[in-house]
Amino acid sequence: MTSNEFPIIYDQKSGNALWIDLRQLNLRYQIPVGKIGKFFEGLKQDKVLATKCPKCEEIYFPPQDDCPKCKISGLEWIEMPEEGELLSYSVINVKPPSFSHYPDYVVGIAKMKNGVNVLAWIKSKDLKIGMKVKLKVVKREPEGYLTYELGD
Ligand SMILES: [Zn+2]
Repeated sequence: MTSNEFPIIYDQKSGNALWIDLRQLNLRYQIPVGKIGKFFEGLKQDKVLATKCPKCEEIYFPPQDDCPKCKISGLEWIEMPEEGELLSYSVINVKPPSFSHYPDYVVGIAKMKNGVNVLAWIKSKDLKIGMKVKLKVVKREPEGYLTYELGD
């Protein structure tokens, strides 16, 4: 058996024959969102919602229904403040395959008025660290999904 007739290489350490093949895998994500349904209802009403633990007062964004510190479920729903300050951003030229159909985009992190950091796409013509940004509900095209984004 030679490697010219088959896509086989020999591991240099062990000498084991290894069949080399390359395939493209499509991953389909299924993430349970039943406990955070209010978040999606909020987007429909132009609101960005987070959850807050009634015991330790930790705010979770993106929202989650469980507080891992207090080990309780059924957290309170609160509205995220609209205003924040840009802490950092990065222009994405090399995209993951599932984002390859979008034009180059910018991802930023903003500290919101309630102290929570939000990671999101950011749209602004003049990006500057420390600038005031607003968290808003937008429609992501071409999919037409409602989501949130930072902007000026
Ligand atoms: Zn808690």
